[in-house]
Amino acid sequence: MILSDAMLLAYLDEALSAEKMAAIEQSIRSDSQLRKRIELLVSQRDSGMHSLGDIWRRHRLSCPSREQLGSYLLGAMLDDASDYIEFHIETIGCRYCQANLADLRIAQEHAKVAEPIAAERRKRIFNSSVGRIQSYPGDE
Ligand SMILES: [Zn+2]
Repeated sequence: MILSDAMLLAYLDEALSAEKMAAIEQSIRSDSQLRKRIELLVSQRDSGMHSLGDIWRRHRLSCPSREQLGSYLLGAMLDDASDYIEFHIETIGCRYCQANLADLRIAQEHAKVAEPIAAERRKRIFNSSVGRIQSYPGDE
């Protein structure tokens, strides 16, 4: 597993998914190089010399909005924005956004199934009322 500094900083902040946390922990145990890198990152971060902590913090602060996640799901997004969300969710593994996205996915699946049924119902109501009523003020 190739770990970027941003990933390791996210690990240090315990901001990754449980799965990723466990995988990185495993690597750290068996890899002394990695342990050295982490020690370095921690000291750099604590002394405020490093910008990577800032990068990570910026990433975490810039969680996409629910609307943006919705557009992402629909594929209705510019590539750059879509790439960022993918990085945020897949690489950083932001748990908050993962939960939000899962929730939106269910809502969209539900809408996909419900919409044709609703359209059919509207058509039936319309057809059955056209024969009897000319028009009704306030009707759609
Ligand atoms: Zn997020």
